[in-house]
Amino acid sequence: MDTLIKEEAYINFLQAINKASNIDSLYENTFDIILKVFGANRAQLWEKVPDSNEMSISYEYFIGNEISMLKFRTPLLTGSAKKIIHNNTIWEYPSFAKVFPDQYSINSLIGIEIKLSENNKGVLILTSKEKNFKHNNDEIYFLIRLKEQLELGVNKINMLERNSEDSKRLIVQNNKLREQDRLRTSFINNISHEFRTPLASIIGFSKMLSTKNLTIETAKEIAEQIQQAANRLSSLITDFLEINKITTEGWISHFEPCDIGEIIKISVEEFNILEKNHKISYIVSDNYPIIKTDQKLVRQVLDNLISNAIKYSPNGGNIIVSLHISKDNNELKVSVTDQGIGIDKDEVSKIFNRLYRSKNSEVQNIAGSGLGLSICKEIISILNGRIEVKSEPNKGSVFAFTLPIN
Ligand code: ADP
Repeated sequence: MDTLIKEEAYINFLQAINKASNIDSLYENTFDIILKVFGANRAQLWEKVPDSNEMSISYEYFIGNEISMLKFRTPLLTGSAKKIIHNNTIWEYPSFAKVFPDQYSINSLIGIEIKLSENNKGVLILTSKEKNFKHNNDEIYFLIRLKEQLELGVNKINMLERNSEDSKRLIVQNNKLREQDRLRTSFINNISHEFRTPLASIIGFSKMLSTKNLTIETAKEIAEQIQQAANRLSSLITDFLEINKITTEGWISHFEPCDIGEIIKISVEEFNILEKNHKISYIVSDNYPIIKTDQKLVRQVLDNLISNAIKYSPNGGNIIVSLHISKDNNELKVSVTDQGIGIDKDEVSKIFNRLYRSKNSEVQNIAGSGLGLSICKEIISILNGRIEVKSEPNKGSVFAFTLPIN
């Protein structure tokens, strides 16, 4: 190989490294040059199998016109053909026709160790169809120069790829934060609007109370309106504070062994002390397992569903809380069934959204914030369960949530 050809090849090699935008194109461009310079029939990178002295080799070859792939692990590059030149490990196999059958077209090879990353090494292999294909020292030094540049190229591309992955991750994170921020702002705008409505009622009605000559009946009616608006404001504030706590602090859950049947019994008994218009009862199946979950959060969801069942059955009726085990024994299912006003079909999918309240005029007269079910949904997803509803207008609703048996 004369010096001029070598220098020209070296410049082409550096240009190829500079142009490459990913590892595959880097190998493709540079191996092409190496092949020509060394008159080899193949240039390949064989990777070292981590924590072993073996090489992982993929080798394409032709049988007639058909391409085939030879894949194997081998401790091939050990043994007597190894030399160290300038700290570089180099293997030369001038002839090993017996190792590879004819169709692989390998009769000799030269390999040089190459650092692919901090912990990954490989061997750059040049194979030849010729037997006893020898390389003089000058050629080997040239190969060392090329491999040093190739290592720098690989390092550069690895860094570029890492940087671009980091920036992709940052963009995704940024978009997520922006979306959260947008949701928070829109939530605060909505809730401020929701606060204004009952507040306006309280101001308007209390003005009426103090300025007009009113009969006792009218005054009573106005007082009731004020009370209703104040109740709505109160539940809005309570739920808003709860949501605010969740969004700023996140949910703090504490999983421990829980007896869900016991939680249901206690909750139902407590509601029955206060609630006289509804008959609240429970059905708890036998032999349900103790599960690991957050007792306080389960109770919060249950109380919310029972209190909704009461609120949205203004004419009274039965409320049944039941506990069942799923057929595949994978989860517990808690349902709260009422005989109340029910939910229109087209509203069923919306009631778990924050601030959504039914357009039904009966609902509008009942105090609420439209936040309770969205809180329940978030809690149940933290407890790795599902929450769903089945409802029929004027007949009643069944709200059910599942908890995994772990
Ligand atoms: P709130 O009760 O404070 O309005 P929720 O998020 O708990 O808020 O409920 C959202 C809406 O879902 C309610 O406004 C009501 O329209 C509907 N809803 C919830 N529970 C029931 C129920 N048991 N029966 C009928 N409608 C219900």
